[in-house]
Amino acid sequence: MPSFRKLSITLAALMLAPALMLECSAQFADAKQGVSDPKIAAALQQVSAQHIQANIEKLVSFGTRSTLSAQDDASIAAGRGVGAAREWIKSEFERYSKDCGGCLEVKVDSFSQEPADRVTKATVLGNVYAVLKGSDAANAKRIVLVTGHYDSRNSDNFNVTDDAPGANDDASGTAVSLECARVLSKLKFPATIIFLAVAGEEQGLYGSQHFAKMAKEQNWKLEAVLNNDIVGGDKNSEQDHAVVRVFSEGVPAAATDQDLRRIRGLGGESDSGSRELARYVSETGRTYDTGVKPVLVFRLDRYLRGGDHSSLNQQGFAAVRFTEWREDFHHQHQNVRTEGGVEYGDTLKFVDFDYVSRVARLNAASLASLAAAPAPPANVHVLTKDLENDTTLTWETSAGGLATGYEVVWRATTSPEWEHVQKFGNVTRATLKLSKDNVIFAVRGVDDAGHCSLPVVPVPER
Ligand SMILES: [Zn+2]
Repeated sequence: MPSFRKLSITLAALMLAPALMLECSAQFADAKQGVSDPKIAAALQQVSAQHIQANIEKLVSFGTRSTLSAQDDASIAAGRGVGAAREWIKSEFERYSKDCGGCLEVKVDSFSQEPADRVTKATVLGNVYAVLKGSDAANAKRIVLVTGHYDSRNSDNFNVTDDAPGANDDASGTAVSLECARVLSKLKFPATIIFLAVAGEEQGLYGSQHFAKMAKEQNWKLEAVLNNDIVGGDKNSEQDHAVVRVFSEGVPAAATDQDLRRIRGLGGESDSGSRELARYVSETGRTYDTGVKPVLVFRLDRYLRGGDHSSLNQQGFAAVRFTEWREDFHHQHQNVRTEGGVEYGDTLKFVDFDYVSRVARLNAASLASLAAAPAPPANVHVLTKDLENDTTLTWETSAGGLATGYEVVWRATTSPEWEHVQKFGNVTRATLKLSKDNVIFAVRGVDDAGHCSLPVVPVPER
């Protein structure tokens, strides 16, 4: 049926056409259509491959950063082991804070991890983080967060003395958190940004689990988490240095039975908070010139692998994972050695520092866009009490007062990303000449400068 296929393609092209008429800073079409914030664009220019290289080299210099390695005073003084790494990350955040007049509050979430499969004895873990408090009282409770894990391992989890350089896994992700802190701490945002480096990842995500539980127990309004793990752009022949993968869960780990029934009934498998965050990162990548293109992967993580974002997902927070395109497993979780002509080990020589700086730029752009934007609208509903072909959406105004308008976005049920947008003023209700049965809708808040909130998919209201 060649003629039918041709017609389908033409229709698809026509459906995409309205995407060129957008106004929000996060755009669907091409970068030239985007309204980028000049302050954010200027900050991205400050992200430095040299700083990132120096930080990754410093982390590697601690020899091993195994969570089970030494952290006594003598080892810290000698600069070897996980304790020395933790103290250095803390001092680095403190140094950035000094440069911005004390704008960062630097903390360590320290706790004792009880013995487990890969933890022989009770071990002190420390997650190090810096808080750039929001400048607007009504929005400072809203938080966006970037994280990487600073612990490393070699071939044997229990070998805590041989080198475990962890240059890519995950000094690269830790360096992204540090560089975002250095650059973004020079700006002010209405919402709060947290820059985090966790431990205990290699033993079973213990650091991030503890941190996520703390956030949940303390009722943090954590809107978005960006986890960078293995973003070194390993220099193998199959690497694509122009892209970075962004993994996101589909059906939320924290979904209730009621949520699951709705997801199953309405085709909500691809609209978790994490997935909306992944789409937001994708749009941000089109709005700002970061030098790397996010490629969305619609699954929680890679086969047989896990990451710290899943700890946040477990507690109901939106969280995604950034990872290089093509991993070389000879360079992960391996003692440094050469065998049969193959070089093993996660060493500096395989890391592309320029690539890490581009991933850092994409992270910084996403964090800054989110922290500058209004809160997402609350209680977004689609009215379903009558059978009708038009669609009426209602919502409550975005908390914090930053939104000056709202946008309804939509896409075909089979499409990965938002395709269309319609702008509305400062209202809490909109009717569209489109059937809710045929597309997926969401509503987002927008301010005068074009900063967009995360979109919220409506729940049916009878
Ligand atoms: Zn890792």
